[in-house]
Amino acid sequence: ERRPLVAGNWKMNGLRKDLVEAEKICVAAAAGEAGEAEVVICLPATLLISAAPACHAAGVGLGGQHCHGEPKGPFTGDLSAEMLRDAGASYVILGHSERRAGHNEGNAAVREKTRGAFRAGLTAIVCVGETRGQREAGDALPIVGSQLTGSIPGEATPQNLVIAYEPVWAIGTGLTPTLRDIAEMHRFIRERVGVDLPRIRDGIRILYGGSVKPNNAADLMRVPNVDGALVGGASLTAKDFMGIAGVY
Ligand code: 13P
Repeated sequence: ERRPLVAGNWKMNGLRKDLVEAEKICVAAAAGEAGEAEVVICLPATLLISAAPACHAAGVGLGGQHCHGEPKGPFTGDLSAEMLRDAGASYVILGHSERRAGHNEGNAAVREKTRGAFRAGLTAIVCVGETRGQREAGDALPIVGSQLTGSIPGEATPQNLVIAYEPVWAIGTGLTPTLRDIAEMHRFIRERVGVDLPRIRDGIRILYGGSVKPNNAADLMRVPNVDGALVGGASLTAKDFMGIAGVY
């Protein structure tokens, strides 16, 4: 059985003073408030080392939000998967639409970074999702299909890879697809992964992301093939984030 995963993506938010929220998340998770779910918080890299002791003690996973594909070298400003791991992370988000669009990361680049994450022993949360224009043109499934095929290395396992479906138009907008559309897409993702990598078809976890809030989390979790959530804005406070994790 696939254990539900609720992952928070703090994006470019969080100073040291905000670690109190991370600590509250840890206390709540250690107290069992996340039920069955595995809880992960993907913090700005500057906060990872400080957050690690509380997260490790509480069994809360720590993640980065991006990494370079190489282990080290002349890449000013970049961070390797090994560095994230050394700072206490066990997860890294890769191929988020904000990186695909804002940093020109294509599928091949995402695949190289994902290989780097595997090499360092991190679990990669690889994001896919269509834009509004692509959905309106009826292209959502083929776009996501080609992102999956192009971004996921053959070495993927249910342990080192998680897929997150995040429709670009649902991120930070308060809009979400219908539960029917989410069910269709998640089923399609599992089938597509099953074609490319049959041995991970049933074990791979597929998260939904895009305007997940405490008031819609319960409906989303009941959709077949939704194995958890990737949460942006609502992961910044322990109250909202545990309101989501608590439904599992
Ligand atoms: P929001 O939850 O703020 O819509 O962000 C979703 C997201 O991009 C998580 O990676």
